[in-house]
Amino acid sequence: MSDDRDGDEHELRVSKIRNGTVIDHVRGGQALNVLAILGIDGSQGEEVSVGMNVPSDRLARKDIVKVEGRELSQDEVDVLSLIAPDATINIVRDYEVVEKHRVERPEIVEGVLSCPNTGCITTGDEPVSSRFEVLDDGVRCTYCGTIVREEIASLIDT
Ligand SMILES: [Zn+2]
Repeated sequence: MSDDRDGDEHELRVSKIRNGTVIDHVRGGQALNVLAILGIDGSQGEEVSVGMNVPSDRLARKDIVKVEGRELSQDEVDVLSLIAPDATINIVRDYEVVEKHRVERPEIVEGVLSCPNTGCITTGDEPVSSRFEVLDDGVRCTYCGTIVREEIASLIDT
């Protein structure tokens, strides 16, 4: 019985928003980077709730981000996968989870991150959009070869 109760409690926690997206199983401490990727800083009046370092079965500690009134695009999910590879995306409509997706790491992300190398062709005046190959532990600029492993969220071109 106690198992069932825990399950219900979990569902309740996940589906508390009315319409929008719940990003679950974000690695502990990455919730604010998730918000940065989504371009959410609260200035537009977005209704967002964030749970940080919540105990989890799958991860030792996880963060949860709930965004009311917004369903994530595939592009957004692709970039999220770079910092939250274990995340689950729950699309909620009328308090019900109607879709559940695991994120998949793309092989290439284009036009989303900016290269930290100021000499890179993608950071100059040339009309070349950025292109990064996704590695197991980071991303690599396909133009200049710069590899970024830390602070990938800070490269997001907003
Ligand atoms: Zn580059």
